[in-house]
Amino acid sequence: MNLDSVLLLEAVHFAAEKHKSQRRKDAEATPYINHPIGVARILAYEGGITDIAILQAALLHDTVEDTETSIDELDGKFGATVARIVQEVTDDKMLPKQERKQQQILKAPLCSHQAKLVKLADKLYNLRDLNRSTPVGWSEQRVQEYFIWAAQVIKGLRGTSATLEEKLNQLFKERGIEM
Ligand code: NDP
Ligand code: ZN
Repeated sequence: MNLDSVLLLEAVHFAAEKHKSQRRKDAEATPYINHPIGVARILAYEGGITDIAILQAALLHDTVEDTETSIDELDGKFGATVARIVQEVTDDKMLPKQERKQQQILKAPLCSHQAKLVKLADKLYNLRDLNRSTPVGWSEQRVQEYFIWAAQVIKGLRGTSATLEEKLNQLFKERGIEM
């Protein structure tokens, strides 16, 4: 096995351990780990990304926001580049929810190219998930509001990946959202 494969396995193993007791919000309560694996796969399989640090960061992208994981821990285990990308895509949980949502819109254009790629794939995965299965307790209006907010974030990520942006634009078009 080559070194890149070992590094990817380390990241997927770490994320699986951290997210082991979490579930997604869909009706089937899918294991949470399906999401970071799917985000990394979108980058590799659909986006053509082969940079291992970006793929590791995709696998780890929700560990700091949603589990007991620190940026220092990621730095020690996966190095400064991976830790920095995850930091860039992590919301500040000290802020109220609406403020966090607004910060994502404002900060998207300031992110590194690597973090922008992870953000594009993350949104693409979540929007496909919402189209596939409505989360428990969500109205159709709430789903539409999520798409509208996501479109605002994606506007700030333009010029990062033509392939992924085209797929996102198609989803927004289907919902009548102007880009
Ligand atoms: P949440 O932040 O509560 O939920 C969306 C997040 O949950 C995603 O970004 C994703 O984050 C994660 N997630 C887990 N499972 C799924 C899944 N199956 N499909 C998609 N995402 C999943 O939602 P928002 O606060 O963003 O709410 C959406 C919109 O609705 C907002 O615009 C808000 O204003 C509005 N709203 C409406 C309410 C209402 O009752 N009408 C109440 C609250 C908000 P990750 O990638 O990190 O896992
Ligand atoms: Zn995510």
